[in-house]
Amino acid sequence: MRILRRGRLSLEVELAELSVIMLFDGETAMPLTYLRGPDGAPLPEADLAGADLVDGKLRLPVRAFLVRGPEGCLLIDSGAAQAWHKPLGRLPEAMAEAGVGPGKVTAVALTHTHVDHLSGLVGADGGLAFPNATRIFVATEELTAFRDTPRMLPVLSRLMPLEQGDGPLRGVSAINAPGHSPGHMAFLVEGRLLIWGDLVHHAAVQVARPEVTWAFDDDPDEARASRLALMAQAVEAGWLVAGAHLPDPGIFRIERSGSGYAFHPVSRGM
Ligand SMILES: [Zn+2]
Repeated sequence: MRILRRGRLSLEVELAELSVIMLFDGETAMPLTYLRGPDGAPLPEADLAGADLVDGKLRLPVRAFLVRGPEGCLLIDSGAAQAWHKPLGRLPEAMAEAGVGPGKVTAVALTHTHVDHLSGLVGADGGLAFPNATRIFVATEELTAFRDTPRMLPVLSRLMPLEQGDGPLRGVSAINAPGHSPGHMAFLVEGRLLIWGDLVHHAAVQVARPEVTWAFDDDPDEARASRLALMAQAVEAGWLVAGAHLPDPGIFRIERSGSGYAFHPVSRGM
């Protein structure tokens, strides 16, 4: 892994044949009660000591990732556009900073179909945000949710079902990570970097304590099991990890620490 470029809203790392660009869509904040203990109840205040707060709420950055290679550019998630909280929707700005025009994206794959991941597929004018993205991969379990989202009408003809093991771009493979949503997917890039979508929502708490769940986990027990399994696998395999809601710079090295894990941002020396 080599850091190719670092900007205010983007970070590009080179793997082997492919590079991965983190694209910052903006940041919002969520109520403290969204972090849940094993009994499903909000965490007691004492357990929130290490939380990363903004105005007394949980900081929630939103990121997408672009995998760039000789065969094309695969965008993984597309940000919230103007469909969710106001400070979000900076993906186009982040792509401009990274020097990737919207026309360069040849395919899109979604980790899942929540509003902060799919909305950026359609521009503010209601047109296609990525006109040359001829295929939009969505997990089979979430095709209906995608089709039922009115904003997605202009891109429905490009929809492609995605299953475990599928490769939306050569060198990228889909890994089932269900729980946060029924068809939640992670993507392994060149066997080196795992883009894990919403496996973690608040790293300051959930990395050290991966048993903590999130209020919007569709099936909290399944989400916890997916998080524990993929974190263990990432450490075992020496994968870097990247996530839609991880803190800056969005790409980390992960290691075991106590009964949980610890994170280190990617740096030049790695
Ligand atoms: Zn999300």
